[in-house]
Amino acid sequence: MRAAALFGLHDVRVIEVEPPASPGPGEVVLRVAAVGLCGSDHHYYQEGAIGSDVVEAGMIGGHEFSAWVASVGEGVTHLSPGQLVAVEPAIPCGRCEFCQAGHPNICPDVRFCGSPNHVGAMADYIRMPAENCFPLPETMTPVEGAMLEPLGVAIHAVDLAHLRVGQTIAVLGAGPIGLLTAAVARAAGAATVYVTEPLDYRRAFARKYGADAAFDPETEDVVDAILAATGGRGVDVAFEAAGAAETPDQAAQVTRPGGKVIVIGIPYDDTMTLTASVVRRKGLTVKLVRRMKHTYPRAIQLVDSGAVDVAALATHVFPLTSADRAFALVDGHRDGVLRAVIDVGQEDGDCTER
Ligand SMILES: [Zn+2]
Ligand SMILES: [Zn+2]
Repeated sequence: MRAAALFGLHDVRVIEVEPPASPGPGEVVLRVAAVGLCGSDHHYYQEGAIGSDVVEAGMIGGHEFSAWVASVGEGVTHLSPGQLVAVEPAIPCGRCEFCQAGHPNICPDVRFCGSPNHVGAMADYIRMPAENCFPLPETMTPVEGAMLEPLGVAIHAVDLAHLRVGQTIAVLGAGPIGLLTAAVARAAGAATVYVTEPLDYRRAFARKYGADAAFDPETEDVVDAILAATGGRGVDVAFEAAGAAETPDQAAQVTRPGGKVIVIGIPYDDTMTLTASVVRRKGLTVKLVRRMKHTYPRAIQLVDSGAVDVAALATHVFPLTSADRAFALVDGHRDGVLRAVIDVGQEDGDCTER
């Protein structure tokens, strides 16, 4: 079968690999439908590592995906061949203290698709535990199914904030995760949503997508702008979704006393800076988002009910054979890209702009 694998920095190749073995008890083999190209895939492409997770040549990427069930193993009763499912990419151990306490996202032994410890979904087929598969309603497309993974991260971020109806938030960074966080926060009752983002097209998208205001850190002091917009008080919750050097500290500065800072972004040099006096004097709560947990059923509901539009974020769709072009597009923030998605079923051809 075909797979898109990383061979070094900026080096993605489509290669032939052995298909997965038949599903064992409790497992399924899936025919991949659509795979989103995540910021973390891009980290591996640009830096070759995320923290201590270092890419080995031939690593198959991709963890945001939907798929059709191809075959089911013994004891799998809730899935049948042909069904379209969204797939949770994390495979926690299920036995450790943290899994047992209901926090599989922080399992130290978790395996994660498209990372150095588990094969990814940028391939024709993948084998997964059946319990990772969530059947999709007929109204949902493979691309929407792939977008449920980043939507899950946004849901988890808003869960961590314990947002209350009528509160005011800021989202720093209007990439797909920031935009989805804004949309989920709005669905959860946020009254006012401020966004900061250096790319013009992303600020414009954020305004259309429901932000009350979108500020440009390159032409204005975004901390002053948000403080001014809130009458000097600051927002109840600031979500950092940029992974830039300055954004965690900006998030702390725009948050009101006693408010919360939720850090979602992955910083490019693996270091995060906060000014101690700012977080300390305001008594801020700072939480870091580790992927997600228990979000798929709610993500499906949010999309199926129309509360959150994920399809609008999938701006470009590529065939698997053009995976290298998808990475290059995301790398350059070119052509108005938000999420580039690989349509694995699509025959060779051009990128479709949506
Ligand atoms: Zn992702
Ligand atoms: Zn565990």
